[in-house]
Amino acid sequence: MAAAGEGPLGLSLRFRVLGSGSAGNATLVEGGGSRVLLDAGLGPRQLAERLTSAGVDPASLDAVFVSHEHGDHARGARAFSAKWGVPLAGTRGTFRASGLAEARLPALQEMTPGETRTIRRLTVRAVAVPHDAASPLAFVVSAGGASLGHATDLGHLSRGLVDAFRGCSTLLVESNYDPALLRDGPYPWSLKERILGPLGHLSNGDVGRLLERGLGEACRRVVLAHLSRRNNHPELALQAAGEALERAGRRTVEVALAEPEGTGWIAVGAPRPAAGRGEGQLRLF
Ligand SMILES: [Zn+2]
Ligand SMILES: [Zn+2]
Repeated sequence: MAAAGEGPLGLSLRFRVLGSGSAGNATLVEGGGSRVLLDAGLGPRQLAERLTSAGVDPASLDAVFVSHEHGDHARGARAFSAKWGVPLAGTRGTFRASGLAEARLPALQEMTPGETRTIRRLTVRAVAVPHDAASPLAFVVSAGGASLGHATDLGHLSRGLVDAFRGCSTLLVESNYDPALLRDGPYPWSLKERILGPLGHLSNGDVGRLLERGLGEACRRVVLAHLSRRNNHPELALQAAGEALERAGRRTVEVALAEPEGTGWIAVGAPRPAAGRGEGQLRLF
């Protein structure tokens, strides 16, 4: 299905955020001779445009993994799959809640949390996360000894997620809100409570706790994503993450921000060999 003239798919792992935040989430990941999307929360035309501008033929994707049914993650899944003949993968709960289960699509591939799907030499592991959706997932995508941990919507840091991310050299994680901005902001109370709750979204402080206490030694880079435009500022998210890494003595870990319109390509290197000096025991929550 790959377009003529397109270069061969590399084996090393890299990714590119195509959209981040409430306007729509999608991340292109390639490696191990395969190419997949994590979420399709942009409209199908916009998704295709952003893939094309990344030099990728939409029809060359092997699958779209849908994390959960909320529109900012699943909006374009049905039309994109139908137009380009790309299978969708996700939980039964996500397919039912999004109406995808009834759609006539090229292929729906059900996954259960904990399951790993292999496409050529790329693996995608589904990790259950706490969020107010039917059966939401985070993903660990691996190829060539490198792993990307990718978690957008979740209300708190579960032990399962922290464990799953421990071996990843790059993490993409939501840093959705600053609690003070959210509390003082314009949202109705019911929505504020939902976001703040254990099935809502991660705050800058939640991400700080992950970086300070739950980061595996393999981690080299953290990409902060899904920032709320109203309830957060990029500087606040970066500052909270930077301070947490400082407290953890992990100054060499790079922190970057995914803009709403996405990022360029980001390489996911394999973990470095262990440094001579230990960093001490990193404790779980
Ligand atoms: Zn959501
Ligand atoms: Zn979302």
